[in-house]
Parts: sequence; structure tokens; C-alpha cells
Amino acid sequence: MNYDVVIAGGGMIGSSLALALAPLSLRVAMVESVPRAAPLQPSFDDRSTALSRSTQRMYEAMHVWDDIVAAATPVRRIHVSDQGRFGFSHIDAAEQGVEALGYIVTNRVLGVTLQEALDTVPGLDVICPARISSARFGPHDVTVNLQEADGAQRALTTRLLVAADGARSSLRAMAGIGVKHTDYGQLAIVGNLLPEKALENCAYERFTSQGPLVLLPVTDGRAGFVWNVAATDAERILALDDNAFLAELQAAFGYRLGEFSRVGTRAGYPLLLSKAMRLTATRTVLVGNAAHGLHPVAAQGFNLGLRDVATLCDCIADYGLDDSEMLSRYAAWRKSDQSRLVGFTDGLVRLFASNSRPVRATRDLGMLAFDLVPGVRSLFARHTMGLAGRLPRLSRGVPLA
Ligand SMILES: Cc1cc2nc3c(=O)[nH]c(=O)nc-3n(C[C@H](O)[C@H](O)[C@H](O)COP(=O)(O)OP(=O)(O)OC[C@H]3O[C@@H](n4cnc5c(N)ncnc54)[C@H](O)[C@@H]3O)c2cc1C
Repeated sequence: MNYDVVIAGGGMIGSSLALALAPLSLRVAMVESVPRAAPLQPSFDDRSTALSRSTQRMYEAMHVWDDIVAAATPVRRIHVSDQGRFGFSHIDAAEQGVEALGYIVTNRVLGVTLQEALDTVPGLDVICPARISSARFGPHDVTVNLQEADGAQRALTTRLLVAADGARSSLRAMAGIGVKHTDYGQLAIVGNLLPEKALENCAYERFTSQGPLVLLPVTDGRAGFVWNVAATDAERILALDDNAFLAELQAAFGYRLGEFSRVGTRAGYPLLLSKAMRLTATRTVLVGNAAHGLHPVAAQGFNLGLRDVATLCDCIADYGLDDSEMLSRYAAWRKSDQSRLVGFTDGLVRLFASNSRPVRATRDLGMLAFDLVPGVRSLFARHTMGLAGRLPRLSRGVPLA
């Protein structure tokens, strides 16, 4: 089986790439090891994801935005506070001259939309469930071996292999690319609840002594939460019954939204910062979490990964698959966006984790500057909306063809 592009991993990033490549009329295979409908599918689960403006533009250019936005909640305001400190900061969509700062959608909804769109792409083979178990890298092509659910094995040959197989990427290791992992010692507890007062399209980010706590506006007046807690305390918190869990979450967040009730199922995600040492190897490229895994504090990991996808599509459209310039252009272009966001999210987690007096004072000054110094909020908003730096075509909303 010969392909132009084989995508290893059909999660949020791999599926988006398979769809984004459609206008280039290439022969593409996407290999995913877990069936989409499986309750344990690691990418399209019950988490809510905040989609940035660059992501919105990209899905508009790929003609799937109308389906996504129909099930999404717009965020028109972000409210940031520091537990135990007076005051707060905020960013407003109206002040930034946009209709929304971002949109919240559940990963499951995104998965269904992408899957339905993928079913209509000519020249695309979705091979699922099957796991890529080994790869051989040559100057003209890469051969990957697949293990299918019934134990059958087969080989595919491709001109370009894209590793979109997540933070623990085995393809990255097969290509001989090292990775630096930093364990935050935190677990993100994710679920949803009913607040007494409606969020009214506002997302709340509260830095607590345990870790950052995020409340996102979702459908039916509910709030999605991402509560980052110390890993040493996580098992105890996850084992609490609904009332005890709500009481602890309420104590961390306060009563700005009145009383919390009706909490749903909770799931925990261990938090790691991971950064690949290189983004490319022989006829191989890394995208999404295989290239960088971020702390969810600023809700940027997926949006960043989609800009990898958009940049890769630009490079393939401009240089083709056989020019080594294509890979070096991709790596050079992605470097600054990735380093900036890794530095930003990591810095934010560390800054708000510290209890030292000088660090707390710097934090207070930072929050003040954020509100008072002209231009700081707009600069921050441009970054969170994914509009900073040189953007590839799809991230600007320009279709590939
Ligand atoms: C709690 C939490 C909240 C988050 N919130 C946000 C947010 O609001 N906004 C945002 O932008 N980002 C957010 N993120 C980050 C976002 O979820 C990730 O960036 C995104 O899931 C990465 O997608 P991916 O496709 O690269 O990797 P994954 O989701 O890990 O998908 C990898 C896929 O590859 C498959 N696979 C693995 N190995 C193989 C193999 N050998 N062969 C075939 N298939 C294979 C897996 O089954 C999986 O489906 C959050 C993350 C967490 C943990």
C-alpha cells in the first residue's frame, strides 16, 4: 500500500490534519489505534476544549465551523483572579473588537463533526482500529507496520509520515527524536456542575493554592470545570462523594457564582510538560501533542497543535513532499510559536504556584499592570486568540485551494 502521507494517530490533531489536506488531492492514510466510539478514546472524550479565534478561522476555511459552532458556547469575557487576593483582571471581546474571544465545545462533539467530514474525503483511508508498531525510515519513503485488532499485520509505504500520536508518541521514539518531560506534580480533575448564577458567556480562571481552577460556560446553564490539584491529594479528592467534592471546589472558587450543585462524573488527567527535541526526522514530522504537551492553564495546547497542522499544510502546498526544504521550513516556522507558548504556560503555572512573598508581590504588580497599562491586555488577548506572529493560510481563514 503506497501513500503520499500517512498520519499516525486519528485524535483531534490527526483527524484535523487528514481533513485539512483534502484540497491537495493526495493519497492519505490515517491510522488510529482506538475505535472512535470506544469509551476510552483518549482524544474525543468528555472534556470541554476552548477553541481560539485562529482555530475558528481554520475550521471555517475547512467548511466544518458551522457544525461545530452550532454545539459551542461563545466566550465573551475572561475573568482572572488570585485566591486570597483582593480584585481581579478581565479581558472583554467587545474591547478587543471581536464577537467572541473563543468558543467552548466538547471533544466528543468535535470528534463526531470531524468524523462525518472525513467520511466524504476522496483518497483518504481511515484505518481504525490499528496500531503502528514499527517504522523503517529511508531516503525516499518510510515503511510502517500496522497491527490490526484481529492480530493481522500489514505494511504501508509513504512519502511523508506525520506523528500525531500524542504526548507519549511512540512514532517520535521510532524516529529517534528525544523528548523532555517535566512532571507538574498536578492532576487536572475535569467535569461539569450547575452554578446558582449563570456564567453568561464568561470564563473564570482562579489561581488557588492547589493549582489553577477554570470554569467554562457550556450548554444548559452548566459550567465545565478543570481543577488542577496536587497529585498527592488527587486520589482523595477524586474519591469524595458529590457533596463533599462540591464543598471543596466551592471553597477553592468562592461564591462569585453562588452555590454549586449537581456535579457530573469526574475524570483525572496527569499534567506533564513535554517538548520534543526536534520537530522533524527523515521524511517524518511531529504535530500536536507529539511535538509539545502543555499544561491546560491557558487552554492553548490543541489550538497550538492546529497551527502546526495549518503550517504543515502550507509547507506541503508550497514545496511538495519530496523537497527537504519542506521539512526545514516547517521546523523553522513552528519554533517561535511553540517556544513562546511553552514558556508562557509553564511560567504562568510556576508564577502562581509560588507562595514566596517577592513572587506574590510580582504577581500583584503583574495583575495591576494587566489592567492599567495600555496595550498589555490587547497583546495578551492576541496571543490567547492565536493571532500573534506569522500565521499560515488556514489559521488566517484562507482555504488551501
Ligand atoms: C484537562 C485538559 C484540558 C484541556 N483543555 C484544552 C483547551 O481548552 N484548549 C486547548 O487548546 N487545549 C486543551 N487541552 C490540550 C488538548 O487536549 C491536546 O492538545 C489535544 O488533545 C492533543 O491532541 P493530539 O491529537 O495531538 O493527541 P491525542 O489527543 O493524545 O491523540 C493521539 C491519538 O493517537 C492515537 N495513537 C497513539 N499511538 C498510536 C499508534 N502507535 N498507532 C495509531 N494510533 C496511535 C491515540 O489513540 C489517540 O487517539 C487540554 C488538555 C487537558 C489534559
